[in-house]
Amino acid sequence: MNYKKALEHPIFKIISETTETLQIDSYVIGGYVRDYILKRNQHKDIDIVAVGSGIELAKAVAKNLPNSPKVQVFKTYGTAMLRYEDIEVEFVGARKESYREDSRNPIVENGTLEDDQNRRDFTINALALSLNKADFGHLLDPFDGVQDLNDKLIRTPLNPDITYSDDPLRMMRAIRFATQLNFTIETDSLDAITRNSERIKIITNERIVVELNKILESKKPSKGFLLLEKTGLLKHILPELTALKGIDEIEGQRHKDNFYHTLEVVDNISENTDNLWLRWAALLHDIGKAPTKKFDKKIGWTFHAHEFEGSKMVYRLFKRLKMPLNDKMKFVQKMVYMSSRPIVLANDIVTDSAVRRLIFDAGDYVDDLMTLCEADITTKNPKKFEKYHNNFKIVREKIVEVEERDRVRNFQPPISGEEIMKTFNLKPSREIGIIKEFIKEAILEGEIPNEYQAAYNLMLKEGERLGLKVTN
Ligand code: ATP
Ligand code: MG
Repeated sequence: MNYKKALEHPIFKIISETTETLQIDSYVIGGYVRDYILKRNQHKDIDIVAVGSGIELAKAVAKNLPNSPKVQVFKTYGTAMLRYEDIEVEFVGARKESYREDSRNPIVENGTLEDDQNRRDFTINALALSLNKADFGHLLDPFDGVQDLNDKLIRTPLNPDITYSDDPLRMMRAIRFATQLNFTIETDSLDAITRNSERIKIITNERIVVELNKILESKKPSKGFLLLEKTGLLKHILPELTALKGIDEIEGQRHKDNFYHTLEVVDNISENTDNLWLRWAALLHDIGKAPTKKFDKKIGWTFHAHEFEGSKMVYRLFKRLKMPLNDKMKFVQKMVYMSSRPIVLANDIVTDSAVRRLIFDAGDYVDDLMTLCEADITTKNPKKFEKYHNNFKIVREKIVEVEERDRVRNFQPPISGEEIMKTFNLKPSREIGIIKEFIKEAILEGEIPNEYQAAYNLMLKEGERLGLKVTN
């Protein structure tokens, strides 16, 4: 079959002509070809293999392009990259690789196209389209990758034990592609991953997180986490999650398996948000349950203050995985910390003051928090399911209503510290804090409206109680 249609973009013609002039061969390989055949969103990065110098080809192509873009050369890797319109093209010379025990960085020699296809991670990523004049658009598929695309199968071109042991990142990639594409990992591969799972230790955390994020961004992330667990990778990467596995029973009382519950929550939330960090929050919302789990004879299983414990664990986890310790981390912490708040609310009669407090504490993230709590409903009892969702609907309506009236989302105290100081002729002191807190509490409790005059009157009253005198 000919795939000329995949190469309609003018860039391919330019590369092809440049290749001809340099008297070498070149091919499009990997993700671009795979995604074309899968009819996935067209790839914006194109990988080119030159049988010869990839760097030289890149430079020559750049000269032939209308705006002669800059070529970025990565000498150590023998690769070069250029940008054309919204496309990134990466050039590499065909190579043969051999590996050492302690590193995923191979010893590299020049090679043929076949050598280069052999070093690819999966059959579906080894597909190449010729850019050579004689057979432009011809597909080179030495490992039946197209068949595997049809069968939705992740398979390695060579012996999977060697493939995964050579570069253990491929284990993460296998699971990531299986999740993204909803493919099955061939049994031999899955067994090899399980056997080699410990070797994930030689991979940097940054690389692992890239794959974890891609799993989390998939339509149904649970697929990936189940595979990570099954192969033994998860306990090396996220032991906080594997610690949630299992059901204990004492005196006939059981708690739910919080690992499988968590995965359900992640799938649920993924239907309602593309926000990666909210998905992380769903993944981590119960991690505090493992270290806080206790059995009490009277009340059964408890996870006292697991939200607080969990939010502290979020920091340590992000730090260990070299994830950003910025506002994203703080957001995840906040979601974990507050993850039970709306639940308590929905179990009760929803009072205005409880809703005001929720908005006050969650600030701009109150909607995200509600999305998390709705995803947290995993009961298999249809009546309860219905009831909880209904209660949250009422909470959401109340949030809109209360916020419209009281504006506590980004609460600014209606009376400033300076004004309190001026009114009572005070230097900075404890009393100022007491009065401010008193006013805030009164507003959140609904005793006074969130308005200047009401707050001013309350300030005078509380000042009097504290024995302060008004200066004029
Ligand atoms: P996507 O860009 O959607 O993640 P991709 O297949 O383009 O998918 P890249 O990471 O961009 O993935 O890699 C490009 C190609 O390089 C792959 O298709 C594969 O052929 C090869 N490749 C990437 N990483 C590895 C690896 N660790 N081992 C072997 N081959 C790899
Ligand atoms: Mg790519």
